[in-house]
Amino acid sequence: MSGFVLIRGGRVIDPANGMDATGDVLLEDGIIRAVGRPDVPGGTTVLEADGLVVAPGLVDMHVHLREPGFEYKETIAGGTLAAAAGGVTTVACMPNTRPVNDDPSITGYILQKALQEGIVNVAPIGAVTKGLEGRELTEMGLLMRAGCVAFSDDGRPVADSGLMRRALDYSRAFGALIIQHAEEPSLSAGGCMHEGVISSRLGLPGLPAAAESVMVDRDIRLVELTGGRYHVAHISVAGAVEAVARARARGLPVSCEVAPHHFSLTDEAVVGYDTDAKMSPPLRSVEDRNALLEGLARGVITVIATDHAPHDSDSKRVEFCHASNGVVGLETMLPVSLELVRDGVMTWMDCLRAMTVAPARLLGLDRGRGTLSPGSVADLVLFDPEAAWVVDAARLHGTSKNTCFHGRRVRGRVKKTLVAGRIVFDDDL
Ligand SMILES: [Zn+2]
Repeated sequence: MSGFVLIRGGRVIDPANGMDATGDVLLEDGIIRAVGRPDVPGGTTVLEADGLVVAPGLVDMHVHLREPGFEYKETIAGGTLAAAAGGVTTVACMPNTRPVNDDPSITGYILQKALQEGIVNVAPIGAVTKGLEGRELTEMGLLMRAGCVAFSDDGRPVADSGLMRRALDYSRAFGALIIQHAEEPSLSAGGCMHEGVISSRLGLPGLPAAAESVMVDRDIRLVELTGGRYHVAHISVAGAVEAVARARARGLPVSCEVAPHHFSLTDEAVVGYDTDAKMSPPLRSVEDRNALLEGLARGVITVIATDHAPHDSDSKRVEFCHASNGVVGLETMLPVSLELVRDGVMTWMDCLRAMTVAPARLLGLDRGRGTLSPGSVADLVLFDPEAAWVVDAARLHGTSKNTCFHGRRVRGRVKKTLVAGRIVFDDDL
């Protein structure tokens, strides 16, 4: 759609501007022009939003798009289609592709492919170390110039302390964010689920909570030493939340994200050996889950991100310990996160902030992503907050269907997703 578009009569929630009120949003040529009760020029196209929430398009800062190299699991086209269906208008994609995104030419390839075949914004995350091998730092400056928005060896931790120190130090020159998959390998080795009562009962090798908290503790010491910006990916244990809370209270540049599966499920879900309940970090104990909820409520955890990790069924239809780690999450992020609002853990405003402006600011996304401020690019989601539905793996839009929420009753359904004013997903079609 070109020209003027009016999204009329919705409940407009824009956390960046502290707005939650019924009103209209006027777009012009893909840009937000006004919010509230704007004067509407003749010839304006109208989208009725009565009964719907109108919010900035969601920003998911932890997504695996699998292209290049693993197109049988997911492609940029399929992954961005899943994003659009979930109301997600920007995905930050992790560098563990084949080849790894550790070189500006790979970043350029991803961005080019996203431009040609993607339907939402794609913001590549570059590797911290070449080949994710944990030995030699990448050229962060060149990668940022090529379009990378942050750095991570996700899937693997940056285990070597000296190397992590250098990465945090070096990243300061560019103001870059270092995202850590926090796991001390000598503690996690061999584990395939959370170590606790249930792993003992199931006879599966466990991976202790300390594997994560030890690494977060270490990294925070290195942040003290260097002043680098540090972000914990998919935080999952109480000890790590506590460490991040203390660091933030002291004003250190430390943040973290939580995935919907970690705040909504526990290691109980592994009973029955369902490989769609296998991910890294694993589903944790009830106590850990409660700490995650408290972390969200207290504002220690400021970002919700999916760790969307598509896997073909061959990688999952094997013995539990041999199955690939990860679940898809883009299409269930919004309704599962809205459970936090219904359960009184977060307000509407805080919940949507954690999926819009909070990640957008951490990644330094340009052109006003994650807000409805006039002048911003018109990336929006329109959703029915009350619509109830049952998650059905077979009906997901992405290439791979490995959801841990199959059969879950949820509320909140994306009706339309707009990227730069263009409708990229329409539930009514
Ligand atoms: Zn990870």
